[in-house]
Amino acid sequence: MKTEHLQNFYNQGMQPSSNYHSPIGPESNYPGLSYQETYTCPVCRHGQIEALTLMDAFACNFCRHIFTTNLQEQSIRVEDSSQPFIWRWTGRNWRPVQQDDFDLTLVIWLVGTALIMLPPALIWLSYHTFPPLPGSTGYWFPILWTALTFLFHFVLVLWLLVEHYQLPSYIALRIQLQRWLEQRER
Ligand SMILES: [Zn+2]
Repeated sequence: MKTEHLQNFYNQGMQPSSNYHSPIGPESNYPGLSYQETYTCPVCRHGQIEALTLMDAFACNFCRHIFTTNLQEQSIRVEDSSQPFIWRWTGRNWRPVQQDDFDLTLVIWLVGTALIMLPPALIWLSYHTFPPLPGSTGYWFPILWTALTFLFHFVLVLWLLVEHYQLPSYIALRIQLQRWLEQRER
């Protein structure tokens, strides 16, 4: 039982980085969210978030996002993002609080599916309706063009989705790329 608990703890990977108590014990014994601790940033999962002096807010030292705090609900909310994500501190890790942004998510999935399916389907349809003469030069071109159109739109929609869901590894990668570009410019 105890080893299982420990394993769970190490699998989480999102513990506060200082003054951590023993992970063995009931949930209520876990340290609550406090301004004296630093935590792994829930947005980029790369930097540390730390309380801002004289403010009820945390800031990340890597992605620079600002979080307002609700100590009663043990939750933080990102303030400077296109998506108003909220996370609750369980004592061991951040758990995302489901936001009701169902409409936007639905629209993105619908538009995404249409963007991936329609353009290649149109190209394929015209190729199918007016097939090139057998043996003519470049008869393979419509097939290549259909594949390229599909691939390009697929990548576009993939990017739209990771932006929408604010995928942590994508956010971290984007910031690292941005910093690398800034360093090159100097
Ligand atoms: Zn961050």
